[in-house]
Amino acid sequence: MTQASPARQATSLFLERFGSGPAVLVSAPGRVNLLGEHTDYNGGPVLPVALERRTVVGAGHADRWRAVSAQDGMVVEVSPDRMEQGSWTAYLIGVLRALGRTGLTLPGASVAVASSVPMGAGLSSSAALTVALARALTGLAGKKVSAEALVDIAWQAEHDEVGVACGRMDQTVAALARPGHALLFETGTGAITHVPYEGRIWLFQTGVSHRLTGGQLNQRRQECEVALGLCREQGIDAEALADIGVEQLPRLLRALPVPWSQRLRHVVTETDRTRRAAGALAARDLPLLGRLLVEGHESLRQDYQSSCPEADLLVESAVRHGAWGARLTGAGWGGAVLGLLPPEKEARIVAEVQEEFRLRFGQMPEVWATKAGGGVRSEK
Ligand code: ADP
Ligand code: MG
Repeated sequence: MTQASPARQATSLFLERFGSGPAVLVSAPGRVNLLGEHTDYNGGPVLPVALERRTVVGAGHADRWRAVSAQDGMVVEVSPDRMEQGSWTAYLIGVLRALGRTGLTLPGASVAVASSVPMGAGLSSSAALTVALARALTGLAGKKVSAEALVDIAWQAEHDEVGVACGRMDQTVAALARPGHALLFETGTGAITHVPYEGRIWLFQTGVSHRLTGGQLNQRRQECEVALGLCREQGIDAEALADIGVEQLPRLLRALPVPWSQRLRHVVTETDRTRRAAGALAARDLPLLGRLLVEGHESLRQDYQSSCPEADLLVESAVRHGAWGARLTGAGWGGAVLGLLPPEKEARIVAEVQEEFRLRFGQMPEVWATKAGGGVRSEK
């Protein structure tokens, strides 16, 4: 993590490497998902919040494609014709290809990237990067594009070109979030509601990388498909698991064997919880929202079986010391726990939780807080 703001860092990196200032400077945020875990690929709602931490892209006209990230500081030449899987420039090339399909033609550009979003920590540095790149390069080409179009370009870049089986939540929040609001995104219909939230969200890093989880996540996705098939055999007419109502659960839970009954129960109750959480947020009922977060964590732990001991301790300890609620956020098996803390108790809860974690796991967890940030924007 850097001390200088990423906007200043991207500007000076651009200057140093390319000899003049960037013509456009654009930023997009990372995100944390308040509630709605593993609902996105089951047609349900998610409730993400944009972070104050952002990825900044500076871009300037050039006759070939050159890019540098403050991450390693190395200028690399790229070509839309040559995918560089395994390199960060794959995301740039993905954006260039998706832009190409919209008819955007640039002979090249110089691109400098700096970010305060941790990478690979489940906070969506990838969508912050692709959305910022898409807006910077369309801006450089003098094209005005809607936020919805940016979502498409960024999603195609990551999904079709880089080859990540992601939904559209990350790109949607990076492009469309409003400062001081969470975003209720119904992945089944695409409907978006901005829900005011002025408070802080605390993040406790488990220190366990979520990178090891590809296999388990794919397994869960398959299990959800099987569970949907089993529900249909029971006469349920649903396009996705999230279409099944909580009132239909008791009968289905009796009919389905484990683990499919557990996956079903998580998705159906999480869908219901997420919509209630948006209501609690709108009503500024943070104690209720906190209880929904804790229920969500229990559902991840017991039914989706995607938690880990580090996350369980952080949640349990935070709640015992007075948090309104906490839960594992992101794909699971590591990553971060988010907490909602009454402001007057913040410092004490954080200190107690850190100490308990250190005693059990031998290291201090990184803890930080964010308010709800805004979506993609110009920094000039
Ligand atoms: P997450 O989106 O949860 O942070 P991903 O694995 O989806 O994790 O995306 C992380 C990848 O995105 C990095 O490995 C890197 O290739 C790319 N990336 C994100 N931000 C930057 C950045 N500022 N500079 C270079 N690459 C970046
Ligand atoms: Mg990502």
